Amino acid sequence: MQGGESGLKTHKIISSENPLGGAIELIRQTFTSVRDKPVKRISFVAGLHGDELEGVYLCHLLIATLRQLKATRPQAFQGEVHVYPAVNPEALGSGTRLWPFFSMDMNRKMGEKTDPSLPAEFARSLVEDLQISSDIVVDFHASNLHLKELPQIRIIEEFDKKLIPLAALCNMNVVWVHPSAPVFESTLGYNLNRKKIPTLVVETGICLRIHQEYCEQIFQGMIHLLRQTGVLDLVDPLPKIKQPLLIHPKQVALVQAGHAGLFIGNAALGAHVQKGETLGTIVDALKGEVLETVTFPADGVLFTLREQPVTYQGAPLARIALKEIR
Ligand SMILES: [Zn+2]
Repeated sequence: MQGGESGLKTHKIISSENPLGGAIELIRQTFTSVRDKPVKRISFVAGLHGDELEGVYLCHLLIATLRQLKATRPQAFQGEVHVYPAVNPEALGSGTRLWPFFSMDMNRKMGEKTDPSLPAEFARSLVEDLQISSDIVVDFHASNLHLKELPQIRIIEEFDKKLIPLAALCNMNVVWVHPSAPVFESTLGYNLNRKKIPTLVVETGICLRIHQEYCEQIFQGMIHLLRQTGVLDLVDPLPKIKQPLLIHPKQVALVQAGHAGLFIGNAALGAHVQKGETLGTIVDALKGEVLETVTFPADGVLFTLREQPVTYQGAPLARIALKEIR
């Protein structure tokens, strides 16, 4: 453990050798409570996927703000805050989703007990440390390179009762409750929620980019969460936050491409759209023809939008949150 004078305590959770020298380290930054028994302990995790950088930037914003607060108003810390800004350092260094060399998805290694590989060992250490240190966890993700997402929290249906009230405190545009699937069982969110540690999975923006406006919005949401849970006790009035659109499994419509071509979008993420309005066109660049004019199938809010223009038949173009359950 190091630090202290800046109000920040740095813990090395696990360390391994880099083949060419130096170390691969999983770091936790801790802001302790003024109480012997903290009111609540909240942890923020980022960078499980090495090409998702919005969360890493959010951790920077959180650490910078909390450091200043610790220096000026230490009594505000009635609870404890932990920040894990870069939990998959090798993947972050190479800008890839997967841990390079092993080509492993660290967020599909959670709950894995026997795999001796380094990504699985880091995953185990992270889960163990979060379990010891947290009452609530927020796990930051960004979208892939194809689809841009409005700031949202995704909740697996079986955990909805506990998580919806917490998610509503986070200044998100959307809270999406979706059914479980076997693929989620090896994720951090699923494993911690199963261990009764409420864990919110944030999805936003697009990978390999930082959408500053979305990050600022989510940052305000995280400060709001810290205040509403009593972790931070501040006298200033609570700022107003967004009331998220709560969507259940049957309230999502996926719009897919009917042709291979270039998708030329005509709608803005976050827009309230109406059935029959134009989402965009798919064009054939070789012949100079419009292959398809894509329209919205229903009224709703556009919360996922394709950014990568190249499409094949069936490629996702958009998701809308439906106003009415169909
Ligand atoms: Zn991710």
